[in-house]
Amino acid sequence: MIYFIDGKFTDKDQLNISVDDRGYYFGDGVYEVVKVYNGELYTAEEHFERLLQSAAKIKMTIPYSQQQLIEIAKELVERNKIDTGHIYLQVTRGASLRIHQFPDPSVLPVVTAYAIPNERPLKNMAEGVSAKFVEDVRWLRCDIKSLNLLANVLAKQEAFEDGCAEAIFVRDGFVMEGSSSNMFGVKDGVVYTHPATNLILNGITRQVILKLCSEIGIQVKETAFTPEDALKMDEFFMTSTTAEVTPVILIDGNQIGSGQPGEITKKLQEAFSRQMPVFEKQ
Ligand code: PLP
Repeated sequence: MIYFIDGKFTDKDQLNISVDDRGYYFGDGVYEVVKVYNGELYTAEEHFERLLQSAAKIKMTIPYSQQQLIEIAKELVERNKIDTGHIYLQVTRGASLRIHQFPDPSVLPVVTAYAIPNERPLKNMAEGVSAKFVEDVRWLRCDIKSLNLLANVLAKQEAFEDGCAEAIFVRDGFVMEGSSSNMFGVKDGVVYTHPATNLILNGITRQVILKLCSEIGIQVKETAFTPEDALKMDEFFMTSTTAEVTPVILIDGNQIGSGQPGEITKKLQEAFSRQMPVFEKQ
């Protein structure tokens, strides 16, 4: 597998990463996951724009432009011969002796990336998955796609141990998002989702879905709703780069709506599939 690190494309076995990297010590960095369909990057501009914004929010300057990041991702796809899969790219504040404040003099951020094959989750998309409410104990800057994912890791593990595919974060009595996805409910034909505040990550897939809703004529309300409201929804689904649009049919053991993927969810899955590179090429 060919990785990208510090300006070079290198075999995974040849990687040389410092144990003093602030990614290890503090999770001091940001990352992105970009989907590859049919050998082509999907919404790469949006993902790398968000990466640059995440970096700016933690006062870090990435030594590559948005276009250069896209070129790196494209080269990884080609070198690793990826058809359907994803790119993982992270940037840490660099390697320096362990002190909390930023290194002074500053060190160069470390950019690491790889491309990996990963099939679309067609079974989950067709059948739906179950989820579990978990208390949101994260910080107040969930809009930053930070490497600090301990609360997300613990929430996902709790969900997995309960036989669920995803944990749904609840903060102060309101549904926020999933541990690695955004959450949507559908009631009487209206799609509800938490507004893009500092308390959630404004998913790129979320943004695509909101655009598709407006194109298809589905009404959207970006309003926070409670777990009780969630259980009364007609349909429920989650979105992410890798999960695409996955129906959530069971939450905390309660069936949502008919307990089957809903009509609006299916409509959005179809609309989402239609605008992928895989369809553009045909
Ligand atoms: N929310 C969180 C906490 C995430 O980690 C992710 C993706 O990993 C998402 C939402 C979905 O974002 P995207 O659609 O950009 O993949």
